[in-house]
Amino acid sequence: MRPEILFPLFAPLTALDGVGPRIGNLLARVAGKHIVDLVWYLPREIVDRRFSPRVADAPSGRIATLTVRVLKHQPSPDRRRPYRVICADDSGDLHLVFFHAKGDYLARLLPEGEERVVSGRVELYRGTPQIVHPDHVVGVDEADSVRRVEPVYPLTAGLTPNVVNRAMKQTLERVPSLPEWQDAAFRKKQGWPDWRASVMAAHAPAREEDLDHHTPARARLAYDELLANQLALLLIRAQARALPGRSIDGDRGLSRAVLDALPFVLTEAQVQALREIRADMAAPGRMLRLLQGDVGSGKTMVALFAMLNAVECGGQAAIMAPTEILARQHFETIAPLAEKAGVRAALLTGRDRGRPRQQLIDALAAGEIAMVVGTHALFQEDVKFRDLMLAVIDEQHRFGVHQRLSLADKGRGVDVLVMTATPIPRTLMLTAYGDLDVSRLTGKPPGRKPVDTRVLPVDRLDEVIEAAARALDQGGKIYWVCPLVEDSDVLDVTAAEERARELRGRLGDDRVILVHGRMKAAEKDTAMERFGDGPPAILVATTVIEVGVDVPDATVMVIEHAERFGLAQLHQLRGRIGRGDRPSTCLLVYSAPLTDTARARLKVLRETDDGFLIAEEDLRLRGAGELLGTRQSGLPQFRLADLAAHAELMAVARDDAQLVLERDPDLTGERGRAVRVLLYLFERDSVVANLRSG
Ligand code: ADP
Ligand code: MG
Repeated sequence: MRPEILFPLFAPLTALDGVGPRIGNLLARVAGKHIVDLVWYLPREIVDRRFSPRVADAPSGRIATLTVRVLKHQPSPDRRRPYRVICADDSGDLHLVFFHAKGDYLARLLPEGEERVVSGRVELYRGTPQIVHPDHVVGVDEADSVRRVEPVYPLTAGLTPNVVNRAMKQTLERVPSLPEWQDAAFRKKQGWPDWRASVMAAHAPAREEDLDHHTPARARLAYDELLANQLALLLIRAQARALPGRSIDGDRGLSRAVLDALPFVLTEAQVQALREIRADMAAPGRMLRLLQGDVGSGKTMVALFAMLNAVECGGQAAIMAPTEILARQHFETIAPLAEKAGVRAALLTGRDRGRPRQQLIDALAAGEIAMVVGTHALFQEDVKFRDLMLAVIDEQHRFGVHQRLSLADKGRGVDVLVMTATPIPRTLMLTAYGDLDVSRLTGKPPGRKPVDTRVLPVDRLDEVIEAAARALDQGGKIYWVCPLVEDSDVLDVTAAEERARELRGRLGDDRVILVHGRMKAAEKDTAMERFGDGPPAILVATTVIEVGVDVPDATVMVIEHAERFGLAQLHQLRGRIGRGDRPSTCLLVYSAPLTDTARARLKVLRETDDGFLIAEEDLRLRGAGELLGTRQSGLPQFRLADLAAHAELMAVARDDAQLVLERDPDLTGERGRAVRVLLYLFERDSVVANLRSG
């Protein structure tokens, strides 16, 4: 249960005066639904209203706060002309100008004969100073509330600064003092204020510098967020492991049979990863391991042997892929190999319906199928296992933590292996996966020729097409990735269709296959199969091919508008080729002019093929927020912390979280209890709820 001290912060926004459903919705859109979300909604800029000259001394264009007497109202003579309120001080006249004004409202706000303090940008109009729509109009006794440095919050259409400021003022009045969850010595060394003081300071910047990520107030709040994140990840992990696991240690009989049937030997990196996985599975606790490796580094093969280990122990194993195509591909790799050892594997996707599906899930429930490959469909309620021992999630950076664990709910003490093809920089690793155990597959299986990567402008597209024709003649297959048009898969498709038409015109109908995101799953599969199994052709595609497909005789990758793709994405795409033993080429086609960042990105790709290095460069060039497209990546999004600016704090937060939980795993000591408040503050309720005692 959320501690009472936080109740005021978790009230809905409409609990604030002046915030009804309409404003509440607008605020919810920019900040969030609860009052606490406004606490995290920090100003981006400041306006300095301390300048209070006489009217005659107020320079045009500058924000000023002026004390004036209201002389006369001049209502607008017609709709197009504004309502004017003539004011003055000893030095001269000031006009306040209002378009579409309500006269009675203005009469109340600015009664003739009274003194008022007004603030806004002064400009000269036909020689007279005026302020159009002053930001503030208050009585003289309230002058101090206006004559100050004012924080400016990011807005959305329909929200005015005054509305936000008013909501913010009430929000800050509700901010309680909270018990300190940070280590006292650490906080002292950093020179950070306590939580409440930090919130207040972050919302009351006095100078530009106060908006910096590294001010004590902002750094503290960022650290709190990172600490909550790390604690939550460690707790999830500890809780998952505390669940009774099982010792799964097969006799290697099936593995040996498959190993003998393989046309190659496992690489050193694969053997090592497998050794780590086997040790985890054999241990009595639950495995939660991440297998990280570039596209084509041989993860699927490692997964297969882990799955065989479960089957050797009489259990079942499941592997889940993010797309239908990829699930099918895994199935085609895994099923025939498993069969060599007499193990039956099945494929279950959203396309399976009716009787065949029923038979399949009956067989799973009865334990007649030992291995299943699938998509999200594996999560469906009625999919049950007789004894699921291992769940492999081929993530390709698309699932969230929760989904990872929910497949594990389909068995008792299920070991979980997460595979990702995204080499994540170490700093981000921590935020996304916390302290998950990691096995890395470095390098590529032997026999791969490095990909020759070239960068060229779109006006040389003719040469590209000629090169493609040559490659086809030599028996190579070609991926042709079409431009990503902003947020519009309709436009993506149009571009791809047009390109396909042009290439068909030049190279012949049967040499061009089109696949795009708006095709039905079955159509997509058919197209991919034709490309994979058929004679050499060009596969014109939108980025649907990004998520791994394996066509070893593909030798050319053309990426149009390469400048629009992220570095990691380009690397993933390029990973589709260079899988066979023939030399391959990646042509990055760009439209001039290139921005400096785009140029730097393409250069990185030309120079290296090391996914981990590319990931680090990506972080450096883009800032963490954009990395991989954060939303897609499953990386958490922070409100206060900036992964690029606060990278060092992240590492400290990880160590700190570890220490806290080592000393007080149930969070019952003094600091532990404060840490519980922190976790609730950042809405990690479920991890606290699962702790032993409150
Ligand atoms: P990933 O899942 O990491 O993208 P895969 O497991 O699909 O990579 O492997 C990519 C390709 O490399 C597959 O065609 C696979 O058969 C092949 N492969 C895997 N391991 C080896 C190995 N040790 N030696 C040679 N080829 C391998
Ligand atoms: Mg185990």
